[in-house]
Amino acid sequence: MAKCSVCGKPAVYVAKYEGKAYCAEHFDKWFDRRVRKTIRKYRMFGKREHIVVAVSGGKDSLAALHYMKRLSERVPGWTVEALLIDEGIQGYRPITVKDFKRWAEEWEVPYKIASFKEEIGATLDKIVMKGHELCLPYQPCSYCGVFRRYLLNRVAREMGATVLVTGHNLDDEIQTFLMNIMRHDVDRLARLGPVTGVSEHDGFVRRVKIFYEIPEKEVVVYSMIHGFFPEFVECPYARLGFRWDLRHYINLLEEKYPGTKYMILKSLLDIKESLKKDRYGEPRRCKICGEPATGEVCRACELRMLLGLMEPPEWFDVKKIKI
Ligand code: SF4
Ligand code: ZN
Repeated sequence: MAKCSVCGKPAVYVAKYEGKAYCAEHFDKWFDRRVRKTIRKYRMFGKREHIVVAVSGGKDSLAALHYMKRLSERVPGWTVEALLIDEGIQGYRPITVKDFKRWAEEWEVPYKIASFKEEIGATLDKIVMKGHELCLPYQPCSYCGVFRRYLLNRVAREMGATVLVTGHNLDDEIQTFLMNIMRHDVDRLARLGPVTGVSEHDGFVRRVKIFYEIPEKEVVVYSMIHGFFPEFVECPYARLGFRWDLRHYINLLEEKYPGTKYMILKSLLDIKESLKKDRYGEPRRCKICGEPATGEVCRACELRMLLGLMEPPEWFDVKKIKI
């Protein structure tokens, strides 16, 4: 059994890419040091912040909430709230909502829950059915991602957030990066990064990923050490997404060639930097709902019109929507 590189006690985690192992106590310290370093490096927070943590009820976002609550206790100018988006996914969301409420209450974090049903006009399950009926070419995760991002921004802003924290980790980020490359979606690639939504587009709450440089496995170890490992339930749509396969292949590569994930992240940051300058357009607002948009109308409004969840205004031609 591996021994902790710091104190020699039995290790709970081996960081292959670093050639080191850690016991629970030293893992926690090492984890905390690296997250704080990430926060400093990308200048994620100021002295006074109203922090809203986007929580899905899964381990990553619960870990982000736990971590931010702990950290905020050391910073007098910070307040922390949580926001959960209920997409309306049967057999999955109700269980994670239960977990979320339990932990938020235990950690004494105020929270808000916003649902697709009330805010968008239908649950994700309904949206997926409608999409099939209308023969729209989207996977469930595509609707889910667009509407979730839209709601997180709008509701966090309404909650008075100065910054929105998400639980995205290193694995999530490089998966999204490679997915955008494979789909030739360079615009979206330019919008990746540890901090987004900073003043380029008015109306966006600044979004930060505190686990940007932390692999998924280590977030799992963090939640186990702190005893809040949530009940494992998988979204029934997860396996239909491209991300599912990609995740598997990247993990195989990392196993065989430790350090691969960090190298991909470094490439992402370099490419993004050079793209940023010419890819960001003028800040715009959706002409229908007023939320930030890259075109005349935001993607959430486009999808709602395509799904028949919203009447198009007279001046708008639905056929113009890029499918
Ligand atoms: Fe939404 Fe897809 Fe995640 Fe399920 S797996 S919650 S559908 S993004
Ligand atoms: Zn809109």
